[in-house]
Amino acid sequence: MENNIEISREELERALEEANKKAQAMLDKMTPEERAQAQTKANRAIAENQAAMQKLINEANAVMNSYPPQREMMERNTAQEHGTIPNPGAYACDAAHKPRFCQNCGAQAGSGKYCEYCGSAL
Ligand SMILES: [Zn+2]
Repeated sequence: MENNIEISREELERALEEANKKAQAMLDKMTPEERAQAQTKANRAIAENQAAMQKLINEANAVMNSYPPQREMMERNTAQEHGTIPNPGAYACDAAHKPRFCQNCGAQAGSGKYCEYCGSAL
């Protein structure tokens, strides 16, 4: 039973060698048109592989999107790489340290009780 399942390395190499010989013989017999067709077929197979890869990537993205914290982290990292977040440290702070804004003029407020810009109570 085992012998039917297990293929020795030698047998495998011989089979590969034979397959290569057959492929080479086919290529030798091929006309340029047939070779072009074979090339097209090969390219299509590659494109299909790429499509399968893209599908995997899309699925991975979908999984990532179902975990908002990870997605947020990724987007933040991307934004940092592109320099779109001038002060990345602000994001690391907890809610208590979020920047406040003046209700009256909309200016970013400091730690004081009054707006530095319009003097409104914060
Ligand atoms: Zn103000």
